[in-house]
Amino acid sequence: MLDLRRHYDVAIFATGANSTRRLGIPGENLPGVFAAADFVSWYNGHPNATIERFALTAKQAVVIGNGNVALDVARMLVNPRETLLQTDVPQHVLELLVESPIEDVHIVGRRGPLQAKFTTKEIVELGKLDDVDVIVDPCVLRVTESELKQAAPPTARMVAALRTLGSLPRGRARRIHFTFFRRPVAVVGHLGAESVLLEATEGDNDHSKTDRPPREVVDAGLVLTSVGYRAEPLPGLPFDPATATVPHTNGWVFDGDDTRPAVYVAGWLKRGPTGVIGTNRRDSLETVNALLLKAADFPRALERNPGAVVAMLRERGVEVVPWDGWNAIDSAEEARGESLGRARVKIHRLDELLQVGSQRATE
Ligand code: NAP
Repeated sequence: MLDLRRHYDVAIFATGANSTRRLGIPGENLPGVFAAADFVSWYNGHPNATIERFALTAKQAVVIGNGNVALDVARMLVNPRETLLQTDVPQHVLELLVESPIEDVHIVGRRGPLQAKFTTKEIVELGKLDDVDVIVDPCVLRVTESELKQAAPPTARMVAALRTLGSLPRGRARRIHFTFFRRPVAVVGHLGAESVLLEATEGDNDHSKTDRPPREVVDAGLVLTSVGYRAEPLPGLPFDPATATVPHTNGWVFDGDDTRPAVYVAGWLKRGPTGVIGTNRRDSLETVNALLLKAADFPRALERNPGAVVAMLRERGVEVVPWDGWNAIDSAEEARGESLGRARVKIHRLDELLQVGSQRATE
């Protein structure tokens, strides 16, 4: 914080929520069980991805959770080659995904369709996947008209979209299954995940529950837990452990210490891991508008020279990628894409990113 004070008038923290929640069930540590967030980091080519290579050898996968991240990972698992070619995922990721023998992906929610956190747009996208059937739990058809009327309009639209998906013709090579009112009790397997034991939960509006055994086993050599994210405390900033957010007023962080630079927060660190891109846009506008209202009152930084920051970091052995280095990475990724017939291919490894980013910067 002292370094920020020296060089900046204001600091906005928008570091997100990077920790993942755990299920706390037996078998969660077996090989083949991963946090969906780690899978997302891997296929997005994040340089700090904790897993370098996913062994995508399973024919059956289970995704636990009913949010948009669960949809993202399910879609990624079944995407055909032609669709993957249009993305910028690293080439080794693309090859593993293309070779994956996956046939069935079960998305499992502990509550019902009316409580699912999917958004309509993301549900509709699933219907456009080539060579993929979407099989929807019969309980979706049992949602009554009056329940739909009472639901928030976005939820009612999302459930209607799920129903539409369930009515599409079937018979394709890969399947996404939506399973509601089930909670995972254990991941079962010897050397790795082989299946997930699910237990029926209360709440289905079909009280006869004839199609719902109390317990069932779903085969799965790959289990992705997609049950939400959590921010971690940052040194020097207040933190509310109950909400895992930084307390603020319209983005302004104040805990009685006015010697620090003016500090603001935006995004998931500010309001928790919810919302789509538009929500984050509105959220950052609130922060920036609050900042501009007060900007004239803030004490000025002692040394307002951007070059001094880079020099200070380099002195401390930090490998800095300045703007021209970022541009060098951008061009290298485009060139890599061109050579492989794709618009862009991400560079995955941190050492390679730093090497490419330092070339132009030192030229
Ligand atoms: P999320 O929307 O909060 O969904 C988390 C899911 O995990 C919920 O269905 C929750 O069920 C379930 N869950 C939590 N604990 C559980 C447990 N112990 N056992 C079983 N299920 C459990 O979180 P997310 O999917 O990580 O998404 C985070 C945010 O990013 C969301 O706002 C999402 O919309 C956004 N996002 C947007 C996009 C996009 O716009 N395309 C893409 C990805 C993510 P309960 O409701 O029962 O707690």
